[in-house]
Amino acid sequence: MLNTYQYPQYAYVPPDALKTGRAERRPAVVVGAGPVGLTAALDLAAHGVPVVVLDDNNTVSVGSRAVCYAKRALEVWDRLGCAGPMLDRGVRWQVGKVFRDEQLVYQFDLLPERHHKMPAFINLQQYYLEETLVDRALAQGNQIDLRWKNRVTALDSRDDGVTLTVDTPDGPYTLEADWVIACDGARSDIRGMIGASFEGQAFQDRFLIADVVMKAGFPTERWFWFDPPFHRGQSVLLHKQADDVWRIDFQLGWDADPEEEKKPEKVIPRLKAMLGEDTEFDLEWVSVYQFACRRMERFRHGRLLFAGDAAHQVSPFGARGANSGVQDIDNLAWKLALVLAGTAPDRLLDSYDAERVPAADDNIRNSTRSTDFITPKSPISRAFRDAALDLAEHHGFARRLVNSGRLSLPTPYAGSPLNTPDRDAFQGAMAPGCPAADAPLTVDGREDWLLNHLGGCFTLLYFSPDGGVPATLRAFEQDAVPVSVLAVGAGGCADPSGVLTQRYDGRPGTLYLIRPDQYVAARFRDVDPRLVRIALDTACGRL
Ligand SMILES: Cc1cc2nc3c(=O)[nH]c(=O)nc-3n(C[C@H](O)[C@H](O)[C@H](O)COP(=O)(O)OP(=O)(O)OC[C@H]3O[C@@H](n4cnc5c(N)ncnc54)[C@H](O)[C@@H]3O)c2cc1C
Repeated sequence: MLNTYQYPQYAYVPPDALKTGRAERRPAVVVGAGPVGLTAALDLAAHGVPVVVLDDNNTVSVGSRAVCYAKRALEVWDRLGCAGPMLDRGVRWQVGKVFRDEQLVYQFDLLPERHHKMPAFINLQQYYLEETLVDRALAQGNQIDLRWKNRVTALDSRDDGVTLTVDTPDGPYTLEADWVIACDGARSDIRGMIGASFEGQAFQDRFLIADVVMKAGFPTERWFWFDPPFHRGQSVLLHKQADDVWRIDFQLGWDADPEEEKKPEKVIPRLKAMLGEDTEFDLEWVSVYQFACRRMERFRHGRLLFAGDAAHQVSPFGARGANSGVQDIDNLAWKLALVLAGTAPDRLLDSYDAERVPAADDNIRNSTRSTDFITPKSPISRAFRDAALDLAEHHGFARRLVNSGRLSLPTPYAGSPLNTPDRDAFQGAMAPGCPAADAPLTVDGREDWLLNHLGGCFTLLYFSPDGGVPATLRAFEQDAVPVSVLAVGAGGCADPSGVLTQRYDGRPGTLYLIRPDQYVAARFRDVDPRLVRIALDTACGRL
């Protein structure tokens, strides 16, 4: 097998506590340096919270796991200053094609609309993604204390903090934390330590991953085949990754023997049948995976907060695993930062459950439906699936029923206690609870993006009718929680294309309150400071 990637080996440094014998106390400790834990560290640091990250390993994700990263996760990483290297290295795509046999039955475009800074998706090997996140974390200096080969082996969670026992190559030590974010993956030790349940469905289906290095003429699109001639009765998925590495997933069925299926003498003929006898390729990675769709009942357990695979798991169809874990952190970090700063009450963290548990259910529902369509579990489901595929060849309505994976989208927090319901009539999608859509704008004549100016703090997005900003609005910038005013049509900020105004139905005088995670909290047709105050206090959990 051809190994195109050199795994970095990050240095283990003996923690001070091993020398002093004294337990340190830290405001925030993240357990796990996967994509979710590293994002948590970066987001907390961006909010000024120093953070310790403990990981039992000293490298990035080994082997082939996540490939596809969605626009929303890229927007979060862009806010945290690390999307650039991901975009540079990753493969951008937005079109998916679904074939039955060799016939195209359905095609989708995940971002038909122009005027967004981030693409619909990039494909990038998980090891590259994590390496970028580690580089960014290391660039934060003392704000992020990354401790490799530090394995959490026990914890004591109380009302006033959490005591962690951490094992290292030099022996164990004790670390005290005000708050712990558990990002220690699907087999979460932390979840096991508190005996929390993890309920849902484990699937019997097995899939083979074959990552091959080849120069191929396939377009950079997601291609999915039902029942292709080169793999009869099963499905196949093809994605291009960085460095001319192609991910091919072969459905194997329930009774496949994983050890047999991984043997090159089994894998190579499958690949040749698909790619043609003459196509030259090298195998980079082969593995067989199974999956489950399940979640913890709740993600907050006192001062322990669960995120990513530790909190919920999905099937890979739809690329909702890492993508949704990053959105957990987007939701959680600003809340924890405000609670740590004493500017929001502890109960703000309950809204993490209120918002992210329904989002996990949305992801689980979507990925379970895709799995059921791809691998029907009963004769009736198979008959439905085959009928949908038959009809889709000729009838538009049936194409929507074809489900080879509904790709990751952010779930709106429609019923969130942090939202202020509309009092006025608005057009468009930017309702309270929705992620703010990006749009172009100009600042002092230079081209820019709305999302570059949102996030990190609350933003009052104001569509100025007269080039001015009311003093009552500016006064919010003195609030105990960080607030900034972004006035379109004032102070050099303009919307020459009109796209921003159209996406936000931004009639003159319109005001949006946008949260630090770039979600809409409230919107008004004019500035009434009393109503803005109530909306801000509601969004911070202060009411
Ligand atoms: C085949 C496959 C394809 C996938 N494709 C996609 C995709 O295209 N897009 C997508 O978004 N997702 C995808 N996923 C899912 C994605 O890989 C996971 O959702 C993601 O890795 C979860 O990140 P995490 O940080 O929560 O956990 P992990 O990545 O599992 O990281 C957990 C970390 O915690 C550490 N750890 C564990 N226990 C301890 C302990 N006791 N003490 C200290 N450290 C500990 C581990 O070493 C590890 O570094 C795919 C998964 C698979 C298997």
